[in-house]
This record gives sequence, structure tokens and C-alpha cells, in this order.
Amino acid sequence: MNINKLPNKDGFFGAYGGQYIDEDLKKEFNKIADEFNKLKEDKNFINELNYLLKYYAGRPSPVYFAKNLSKKYGAEIYLKREDLNHTGAHKINHSLGEALLAKKMGKKKIIAETGAGQHGVATATAAALLGLECDIYMGEIDIIKEKPNVDKMRILGANIISVKSGQKTLKEAVDEAFIAYKNEYKTALYAIGSIVGPHPFPMIVEYFQSIIGKEARSQFLELTNTLPDYVVACVGGGSNSIGIFNGFIDDINTNLIGVEPLGKGEKLGQNAASLTYGKDGVIHGFKCKVLQDEKGSIKDAYSIASGLDYPGVGPKHCYLKDIKRAQYKTIDDKKAIDAFFELSKTEGIIPALESSHAVAYAIELAKKHKNKKILVNLSGRGDKDVEFVLNYKISQ
Ligand SMILES: *Cc1c(COP(=O)(O)O)cnc(C)c1O
Repeated sequence: MNINKLPNKDGFFGAYGGQYIDEDLKKEFNKIADEFNKLKEDKNFINELNYLLKYYAGRPSPVYFAKNLSKKYGAEIYLKREDLNHTGAHKINHSLGEALLAKKMGKKKIIAETGAGQHGVATATAAALLGLECDIYMGEIDIIKEKPNVDKMRILGANIISVKSGQKTLKEAVDEAFIAYKNEYKTALYAIGSIVGPHPFPMIVEYFQSIIGKEARSQFLELTNTLPDYVVACVGGGSNSIGIFNGFIDDINTNLIGVEPLGKGEKLGQNAASLTYGKDGVIHGFKCKVLQDEKGSIKDAYSIASGLDYPGVGPKHCYLKDIKRAQYKTIDDKKAIDAFFELSKTEGIIPALESSHAVAYAIELAKKHKNKKILVNLSGRGDKDVEFVLNYKISQ
């Protein structure tokens, strides 16, 4: 199988990606692409990044054999423990990379958007560490909903800019952050939160997240002397999943499975399963599978896991689906909640609600395929979700 690992010169993976933005921004983004391509060959940059990943973020994160869960469901289930990273998820991998990139490019400030606040906290953390200013755009409604993360960002020294347009949530926050960036690109770098947005951002975030799969493959071989039959990860924008998939992309006998949130159901507006129910369209300056109605208007996505509720998805996943190198399945809210408790009770690990989608699918797989080896990317820890999950349980 011939797989394009990098986008073409216009930023496309197959039919997806690109730069649907005005000429000024295109010029600036292409400059970022050139700088990035140089830096990733630069020994100093690589050494600095690796140093931060090891001594600051706590990498490598272990691959753990979930013995109790495996015994209960009949397959061998392994967890790549991204929940153990500093700030509690995989996001620190690309946030450190983006902040270091900004620094090397001589920028003074990082501009980012955030929905649930996870990307905002990771970005504010990296900015604090590297001495950069940090402007975080966030919908007014999300600021109220996600108070603990907003408090953390403020403690870390970030400026929170409240976005009051439209629905006052993530989509508008992205729009306004883009506008701000257009005015400040000489002194600032945009730091996106997943493998989405116009080229070169998907390529850059993918590069920084690929450390997950690189580690996981050699750790898995060391533990088992073989490769997993399945690699399972949840898909919001698609960064943690692409990060682990890339380690196994050439291992054609390893099935790669992305798990999308089915939310409350199949209907438009009830889920955030863009690869499953979306149609080709353009969102935030790039082409991908987008949740939209017959007239092509983009609909708000929904999932119980706020880190997964984006109506688009990374172009690389659309491409991997087209060429059938990866498969995409869905898990609804209820199954994700059940998996949240199941992993907590059997292994003593409280997973993020996002990651619980992957755990739920792994359990379904295990029931059907006894004795297979399943590697799950546990993208984050569930501390942030505890209060919400308990209230949800009570109200059911
Ligand atoms: C943000 C987030 C996700 C979803 O983002 P991807 O880009 O799809 O990885 C998944 N898990 C956790 C814990 C997150 O914080």
C-alpha cells in the first residue's frame, strides 16, 4: 500500500486539506511551513524539543498491560498512558512544539483558541515555560462552563479574550482568533489545538504528536515481541489518533481504528462523527468531512466529551479513510460513560471522557475477538470530568 505521509505542496492529503484563506494569510502560512520544514531537520531544535518532552512533560509515557480488563473481556488490552503527561493529556506534546517553534521564529506571542479549555491550558503552560505572551480566545459561554480551566490559564499568565459573537463557543472563538492573528502575525504565532486548520498546521501538529506512536511501537515490541492486532484511539480533530496511528502505519497487519463520538444519536446535531456522517466541505480554511445539512450549512457538533465536539476533522483522517488504511467507528455518550467507570473500577485509572470512547470500543472488540492484542491510546486523564460525570449519572 502506497501511503502519502506528507501533504503535497498545496497542503493536500488526497482530496483534503489545503488553504482556503486569503492571499496575505497564505503567504504567512507558507512562511511558517518553510521555517518548520527547516527546523525539523535542525539538531538543536530536535534536542531542545526532546529535552522538554523528557524532563518537563515526563515522556516517554508507558504502555501498560491492563491485566484486569483483559482478563474480564478475553483479549489482551494495552494502554498508552498519555494521561500521565504533565497537564494530563497528549496536548502538551504539540503545545511545547508550537511554543518552541514560535520562539525559534522570533515571535513574542502565542495566539490560540480553546473550547473546553484543554488546549488553552496546555498552550498557556508552554507559553509560561518559554517566556511567551499568550492570548487565548474563548467563547463567553465556555468561559462560564469551564471555570477551572479558565482559572488555570489565568494563573499561568495567559490573557483570556471573551468572544461574544454568534453561539459564543468554539467555532466563533476560532473565527476571532484568526482575525486577531491576521493583525499580529509579525509578532505572534497561531497555535492550533489539533490536526485541523489550513496547511501547514495539520502537518505541524501531526509531526509533534507522532512521538506517541514512535514510542508505543517500540514499547509494545519490547513487552510482547509482536505488534498489536488493533490500535484504537478517539477522534475529535484527530491529533492523538494520528499520533499513535503513525507509529504503525506501515504495519499493514495492524488495524487502525478511530472512534468518533455518536453523542445522543445519528441525527445531525446529535453527534460529532464527522468521518461517519459528514460530507466534503470547507471549515476554518481547510477541506474535510464536515457535519452539514443539505444546503451545506455547517451544524454545531455535540458530544458528552467536549474535546471531541468539532464539526470537522483532520484532513489526514479523511485521506486514510478514503484509501482504507484506517477504519472509523462510533461510540455514544452512554457507552463512553460506562467505559469511564469500567476502567476506573477494574484498573484504578480514571480516563478522560474523550479517551473513554476508545476504551469503550476496545471492550467491544475484545468481546468479539478473543486473544487478540489491542492497544488503546489513553489520550488523557479524567480529573476534569469527575464532577460532570457524577451529576450526569444522578440525572439519568
Ligand atoms: C482534546 C482532546 C481530545 C481530542 O482531540 P484530538 O485532536 O482528536 O486528539 C482527546 N482526548 C483528550 C484527553 C483531549 O484533551
